[in-house]
Order: sequence, then C-alpha cells, then structure tokens
Amino acid sequence: REGCTICHTSDVLIGCDGINGSVRKQLLDDTGHASSPLQYLGVLVMLGITGNLPEGSPGADIADGKSALQMSDGKTRLFAMPFDNCQTMWQLSFPMDLDVAQKLSQEGPAALLAEALRRCGAWAPPVPQLLHSTDSSLVSGYPAYDRDVLGPAAFSAAAGSKLATGLPAVTLLGDAAHPMSPFKGQGANQALMDAVVLAKELCLCGAEGPVPALRRYEAEMLQRSGKKVLASRDVSSLLHSELAIGEGDKTRSSFVGKANLERTESLPLNAV
Ligand SMILES: Cc1cc2nc3c(=O)[nH]c(=O)nc-3n(C[C@H](O)[C@H](O)[C@H](O)COP(=O)(O)OP(=O)(O)OC[C@H]3O[C@@H](n4cnc5c(N)ncnc54)[C@H](O)[C@@H]3O)c2cc1C
Repeated sequence: REGCTICHTSDVLIGCDGINGSVRKQLLDDTGHASSPLQYLGVLVMLGITGNLPEGSPGADIADGKSALQMSDGKTRLFAMPFDNCQTMWQLSFPMDLDVAQKLSQEGPAALLAEALRRCGAWAPPVPQLLHSTDSSLVSGYPAYDRDVLGPAAFSAAAGSKLATGLPAVTLLGDAAHPMSPFKGQGANQALMDAVVLAKELCLCGAEGPVPALRRYEAEMLQRSGKKVLASRDVSSLLHSELAIGEGDKTRSSFVGKANLERTESLPLNAV
C-alpha cells in the first residue's frame, strides 16, 4: 500500500482488502474481465458517537444506552443505537448528488455535523439532543457504494491472469468480493460467513490442491452474498423514500415490493 514491494511465498492468496482492494483490481483487470466498477448508491452516510443523554433531558428515555431508534422524514433518515454502556452511535443518511457528497465528505467532520444539524436540528427528541452533544471529532461521512455481483466465470478466467501466474489459487473475501450498501447490516456478516466457508473448503482439500476448494467456496459465496448485495441496494432506495414512512402495520420487506424480492431470490449465478 505504501509503494514498497514485499515478497512472500504462499499456496493461496486471499484478497480481503476491502471495497477498494488492489487484489480484485489486479485479478480481474489482467483478464480483461469486467471488474464491475464502484456504483454510487445516491446516498451519503454519516456516523457519529456521543454520550448517552443525561437522565431527565428530552429524549433520554429513548437514547438510554439500551434502545435503538430510527426516524425519517421520507428522505433523510437517522438510526441510533447503543455503542457501549455509556455512548450512543447514530447513523444519518440522505440522498445527495455524488459531486456534492464527495465535496462535503472532504470538507470534514465540522461541515458534516453542520449539515446534520441543518437537516435534523428541528426533529423530535432525541435527535437534536444527540447531534448537539456530538463532538465533531467523532463524526465521519462518505458516499455509499456497492458493485454489481460477480459471476463464477470471473474467477475461473482470473485463474490465468498475470497475478495468478505461479500462484494458481487466488480468491476474494468480504467487501473485496461483494461490497454492499450498509442498510441491511450484512457486509461484515457476509465477510464472516465467507471466512467460515473458505476455511472449511480449504480444510477438506486433498491431493488435488486448493484450486477446486476455492472454486467451490466462490460458487457458494457468490450465490449467498449476491442476494444480499441486491437486497441491500433495494433497502437503500426504500429507506430514503416516502415508503419508509408509509402508514400501516407492515414489515419493512413488505414495502420493498414483490418484484424486487423475486429478483433477489432468482439471482443468476453468472450475474457479471
Ligand atoms: C456506515 C456503515 C455501516 C455498516 N454497518 C454494518 C452492519 O451493521 N453490519 C454489517 O454486517 N456490516 C456493516 N457494514 C459493512 C462492514 O463494515 C463491511 O462489510 C466490513 O467491514 C467488510 O470487511 P472486510 O474485512 O471485507 O473489509 P474492510 O473492513 O474494509 O477491511 C479491509 C482491510 O484491508 C486493509 N487493506 C486494504 N488494502 C491493503 C493493502 N494494500 N495492504 C494491507 N492492508 C490493506 C484495510 O486497511 C482494511 O483494514 C457497514 C459499513 C458502513 C460503511
């Protein structure tokens, strides 16, 4: 990452270097296979951490270190939950053009917090109280991205890439393989499941070596995580729309729409 070259010998290379991972880039670019570029989801996500509200202050019964809350005006959405016994973390997200979102993100924590207060400073408790009590040093915010789902063909083709020369067993894990919107809370969970499946497959590999084990891992990983990528994308749109505040005693998924759910369930294996 810092421009120096370090040489290691290994039987397998697992690219688990995140959404901008260089292993994926080298692996897929070498083969001329579409590496599915980052796709902006149209939303900026901001995070902040503050102390639990003092007892007796407005909204303290909600931001109490035990409860989670979600509030929306049909466009801008704030979610808050306990960070630890004494602190609450909040996540604010709203639609924004990419150039404006990039500029705001680069302007830094104070500008982000000012934008949060501009949008939600007059909302019901405990939102203004949480925002006002947050130290800007504990605020961050970035445009949200995902990538289209890869198909197994991408990995088979990559087995002949320059990166894989002399190292036939290369694969990807976690956000390097399947970055997704954060709104279903699935990214880290899928990465952990990847690790378990990959470890099991590698434990089982025998005289044939690790390559077939990696292809079996990839087939399972792409099918499982691909559904989450699409569902997370759908939820990203839903949560920042009027549907999020639609009245009715219904689950969130019932608002996403039957068509989207069917699309997610029938994800083709050779998606990209
Ligand atoms: C706002 C937000 C909220 C989220 N909420 C949830 C949630 O509630 N539940 C959930 O399951 N997921 C959630 N996620 C997603 C989750 O954070 C990611 O899916 C998860 O961190 C992916 O793990 P990873 O190990 O694949 O990648 P990363 O966590 O990105 O780790 C990759 C690591 O590789 C390192 N690296 C990169 N390049 C190099 C290099 N060249 N050399 C050495 N090291 C390198 C990086 O520094 C980094 O430490 C959220 C994400 C965001 C942005």
